[in-house]
Amino acid sequence: MEIQLWWLLALPAFFGLGWIAARIDLKHLLSESRALPKSYFKGLNFLMNEQPDKAIEAFVDVIKVEPQTVELHFALGSLFRRRGEVTRAIRMHQSLLERNDLEEEQKLYTLYEIAQDYLKAGLLDRAEESFVKLEGTQYAEPSLKFLLEIYQQEKDWMKAVDTARQLARLSGQSHQKEIANFYCELASQEMMNSRVMDARIHLEDALTVHRRCVRSNVLLGDLEAGQGNFEEAVSAWKRIESQSPEHLAIVAEKMLNAYMRLEKLEEGQRLLKGYLENYPSIEILNVLFDAELKSQGVESAYHLVRDELRKHPSLIGLDRLLEAQLMEAPIERKRDLELIKNLVHQQAASLSQYRCDTCGFNAKQYYWHCPACGGWETYPPRQTEEREK
Ligand SMILES: [Zn+2]
Repeated sequence: MEIQLWWLLALPAFFGLGWIAARIDLKHLLSESRALPKSYFKGLNFLMNEQPDKAIEAFVDVIKVEPQTVELHFALGSLFRRRGEVTRAIRMHQSLLERNDLEEEQKLYTLYEIAQDYLKAGLLDRAEESFVKLEGTQYAEPSLKFLLEIYQQEKDWMKAVDTARQLARLSGQSHQKEIANFYCELASQEMMNSRVMDARIHLEDALTVHRRCVRSNVLLGDLEAGQGNFEEAVSAWKRIESQSPEHLAIVAEKMLNAYMRLEKLEEGQRLLKGYLENYPSIEILNVLFDAELKSQGVESAYHLVRDELRKHPSLIGLDRLLEAQLMEAPIERKRDLELIKNLVHQQAASLSQYRCDTCGFNAKQYYWHCPACGGWETYPPRQTEEREK
């Protein structure tokens, strides 16, 4: 009768502590339940009453009396880490590692746990060291994922490339997009240090790994433009059309500047108008509007934006149209127009953002690497206004 009552109490708690439930051998527990200290059941009671702090203290008491309970150490260690008590988690796992009665599998699991504690505590060197030791074990795949996270945090892109390759081999999943981006990061670093040749090699590597790596052509164009090779820069950016035409929007302004430096502004405008026709984009419209305003004047800029608005209505387009109208408006209409334009402008500005497809983070600038969720190429190159139609 007494045992049945225990079970009534214990079962819901096992569900609550799913992790424990998965690991504790119930038969074994049943046979030994009489031997368990009272604190154990006190702990379960506290868990059921949603008092995790008191439950933890009760379980800590169990460990003091019954230091052999390895599984309980594991459960508590991971509980501490999840609750942000990383120092306690590390202490608990460290004490397990110092024991010599642990089975090989338990030792590996402790190492895997303490590596995660170090990572959570920001002790990246120690975390890296522990995860590396788990190569070739059953924890190799999740460890490689953590290592990849560490190398990205440390911006150690070469190690990130190696780790992603290992992970791809082990999991059978493609990591080509990430690897290509790591090469692009390496290229950017070399470009910042004016090591043009090394940057070129990394960009070629990026394209070898991932033929559709738009970013490598964006960077190659930047590299050529930085060297004054504007023809080559334009050629690199033009190649984006065959990879992902909607990304042309993010190089439109650079392209037009390059054409300007080549004194071929009209040719550049013609090219961008073609792009706008085939791949409608607010970004390209904006660039063309400014160029048209400077080179042909208000009238021409007004027609450009009005024609585009008819085909693809957008608030940002309307904002530019009002801007053109305002320039030409007689004094008596200026105040009214200004009022309308300000209202439209505020709305348009709040909508002209890029949004991460994975986590929904909004940003004014375009990111290849989401600052919020760490995803690569998760931002479509279109601003939210265009995407929500
Ligand atoms: Zn994100």
